[in-house]
Amino acid sequence: MAERKPVIITPEQLEEQRQYMQEILCLPQRPKSYFVVTYGCQMNAHDSEILAGMLRDMDMTEAPDREQADFVIFNTCCVRDNAERRALGNVTWLKEVRKRNPNLIIAVCGCMIQQPGMAEKILKQYRFIDLAFGTSNLYKLPELLCRTLNSDRAVVVVEDEDTIAEDLPVKRLRNDAAYITIMYGCDNFCSYCIVPYVRGRERSREMEAILAEAQQLKDSGVKEIMLLGQNVNSYGKGLEGHVTFAELLRKLDKMGIPRIRFMTSHPKDLSDELIEVMGKSKHILPQFHLPVQAGNDEILRQMNRRYTREQYLNRVRTLRAAVPGIGLTTDIIVGFPGETEEQFQDTMSLVKEVGYDSAFTFIYSPRTGTKAAAMENQIPEDVATDRIQRLIALQDECQKQAMGRFVGMEEEVLVEGLSRRSNTAVSGKGRHGVSITLPGSEADIGQIVRVRVTEIKNNTLMAERI
Ligand code: SF4
Repeated sequence: MAERKPVIITPEQLEEQRQYMQEILCLPQRPKSYFVVTYGCQMNAHDSEILAGMLRDMDMTEAPDREQADFVIFNTCCVRDNAERRALGNVTWLKEVRKRNPNLIIAVCGCMIQQPGMAEKILKQYRFIDLAFGTSNLYKLPELLCRTLNSDRAVVVVEDEDTIAEDLPVKRLRNDAAYITIMYGCDNFCSYCIVPYVRGRERSREMEAILAEAQQLKDSGVKEIMLLGQNVNSYGKGLEGHVTFAELLRKLDKMGIPRIRFMTSHPKDLSDELIEVMGKSKHILPQFHLPVQAGNDEILRQMNRRYTREQYLNRVRTLRAAVPGIGLTTDIIVGFPGETEEQFQDTMSLVKEVGYDSAFTFIYSPRTGTKAAAMENQIPEDVATDRIQRLIALQDECQKQAMGRFVGMEEEVLVEGLSRRSNTAVSGKGRHGVSITLPGSEADIGQIVRVRVTEIKNNTLMAERI
């Protein structure tokens, strides 16, 4: 793998973007409202908060929906085939809205655009798109929008750079909980995954910048932070000195933010040091998302995951010993090329053995440009569908059993909103990452409430206030 140095965006480059913001404010044809449509993971959701922050600073207001906006940005994802198809379907639908609002500006950004030749292809097939830009150009939105407003041709900018931009404006979705991206990209090249090709090489933000952002969030009353990265466990690679994720967590724990979570982890990088920090910390929540992907060693090897089933199970045992009752969740792919029924049964037995609180299960979908897409023995759809159904049924059973440990237990819930089933109940996540419903009202939203879990109803924990 060729070494690539991250490109740090300088304060001068950011100042240049602020000047574009000023220029846009003077343009009579500038859009007055915006809407950002987000696909994919939390990292994309946080990128959308940054897009919204820049648009707010250009004096635009958020429209109630995409049909009423003057400027619509689709922040796309290409990790799974259906997210890509959904994004393109929705972009096409906006063509009709353009007939009613000829001044509508349509932009597409995110990792789908970062695939080689994709931006040009999209613009050829979807001629009504005005602007397309890749993930590394996010910070340039003011400049790109300015160019779009001054041009009658589509603007396309996709650079193959691994950028890090600090101090961008952010319009956060919630006041009580916030995302902090601590690293970008990925170096792992799992054979089925497109991320390293579209999000670039792994690069970490300086620890001081992350701590300063966390402190600012704490001062503004945020009760929970979620640290984001494709593989947070390898945070620090490439930074000067011995900088590790465990060290970052240790420092954040001392800061006193009530709840700290993180996502996503790679089992091969889950160090004893990190587990020890989790075991001793006060504020790092007892939950861990540890994607296993498969339970068979040969499939794991073909996936280029670089751990065995036994090594994975060893990490699970060590985590459980250090953090008793920890909430474990995972990602699993079924129907990977060449997967036999016997190999699939190894995944089933691993799921039983671990007893996850929840699992995101997927049928393997080939992504152009990845190693697995070129493998022979792609699994027929009906076989993969049958396997995922059996896996989901098993996970449902295991989940019910795993949930049982919470009944009678005290928990703390960060209330996210009114319950969908009743307006005298609210729901949110407990410290272990499981959804809990409790009696309450709108006034509880954003508060941490102590509860005792009383029963399990439809896979949800029900609780009473203490
Ligand atoms: S660790 Fe593997 S699955 Fe995760 S983003 Fe990197 S390449 Fe993709």
